[in-house]
Amino acid sequence: MDFTSLNLCQPLLNALDEIGYISPTPIQAQAIPDLIEGRDMLGCAQTGTGKTAAFALPILDAMAKDPWTDPRRIRALMMCPTRELAAQIHDNIEQYARHLDIRSMAMFGGVSQRPQEKILRRGVDILVATPGRLLDLISQGYVDLSHVQFLVLDEADRMLDMGFIRDIRKILAQIPKKRQSLLFSATIPRSIVELSDDMLYNPVNVSITPESTTVEAIEQSLMFVMRSDKRGLLTYIIEEESPDKVLVFSRTKHGCNRIVRQLGQDGIDALAIHGNKSQGAREKALRRFRNGTLQVLVATDVASRGIDVSDISHVINLDLPNEPEVYVHRIGRTGRAGQGGITIAFCDENEGEYLGIEKTIRQDIPVDEGHPFHSEKARSRKGNKAPKKQQNRGRGRRQPRNNKSNGGSRSKGKSNHQSNGSRSKGKSNHQSNGGRKGRRSGRGRSRKQRKHQTRY
Ligand code: AMP
Repeated sequence: MDFTSLNLCQPLLNALDEIGYISPTPIQAQAIPDLIEGRDMLGCAQTGTGKTAAFALPILDAMAKDPWTDPRRIRALMMCPTRELAAQIHDNIEQYARHLDIRSMAMFGGVSQRPQEKILRRGVDILVATPGRLLDLISQGYVDLSHVQFLVLDEADRMLDMGFIRDIRKILAQIPKKRQSLLFSATIPRSIVELSDDMLYNPVNVSITPESTTVEAIEQSLMFVMRSDKRGLLTYIIEEESPDKVLVFSRTKHGCNRIVRQLGQDGIDALAIHGNKSQGAREKALRRFRNGTLQVLVATDVASRGIDVSDISHVINLDLPNEPEVYVHRIGRTGRAGQGGITIAFCDENEGEYLGIEKTIRQDIPVDEGHPFHSEKARSRKGNKAPKKQQNRGRGRRQPRNNKSNGGSRSKGKSNHQSNGSRSKGKSNHQSNGGRKGRRSGRGRSRKQRKHQTRY
């Protein structure tokens, strides 16, 4: 199938041809015909499946076939959870609409509202906004939503998780009832069903399950490692595999900063993006990551939403997420639009219970023992509940310096490192011993391992 069979107007087809989209992704093929017919839609799809074009192309098509530029009014409102995603959707729309007289803008908080006011005064057709700033500008009288014909909620589950539901409902009250509404969400919990019941009229349901799209193209692996060895393992992977573009996930903002600092000490260039970073810093990090001058980007889950970098080679879960859906979101950052990618999840002695992920994705993640930090102790905790004390603590912060974990024994020259798999490409001389005695011995460690041990 190609785009011409979807009845899109010629300027859009020309743009897609120039951008290099040859055939529609599954969600585009499923969604576009019904959306062109004017149907409401509940879409279950994660970022990376091509859903932005799935909702943007039919809306642009409808607007192009019924131009309305004098005066220019907001005809389409697209709401999403983060500034990165808003900027990304806006960028995509600009690309698709390059041969059309349609103006789009991105509106989000954390930056001065003046430039946004200026763009609004000039008039826009499509507003891509995060709910908080939008509500702010509505209340100040800068935004008029009374002509909206198309409404999109993207990553709706995230918006609800982030507590935007009241803002969303206030905004919905400003939009004409007669409109075409689309709701996209990576997961469909009860709260989304309730919202869709209120928002959508007789919707078409489309669902692109991770199993049939992204996840299939991704090579996943799981590494059991003691918590205190995680940073050593991260440096080891980056040094051994020399990946082109690595996205590292950390659960906390503080954790992101710490990883960047520690990678820097190892001579690895990394930057972090998270909610405490200024918009300028986030944009700079993303720009460098996108253009290939930054090898490692470290992100929290929230900040990672909307990172649209198509060629991420590795996604590393430094912390296992406690919600399986988050794992699916994370690994979906690589393997975009059907390309392959590698994801590695670290699992420490306190994270065994989070491997419920395997049930959600309906597959066992292959265990990779072929690294010097493999820990049978961490593996033996698979399925165990995390000890309460550990679970509630900031990662690593209050860990005593000479804790009892294997990594904590470094000052005494002990090591639990063992290697028996195939990931290391012969660069290291770590021995597989597996035995208690061997693990306690400091002998047989490479210089690289000792270097990691003293650093972390
Ligand atoms: P999205 O899920 O909308 O974030 O899209 C994921 C990535 O796939 C983006 O980099 C898009 O530019 C790209 N993409 C979307 N649709 C297509 C297509 N039909 N052909 C090739 N790439 C696409």
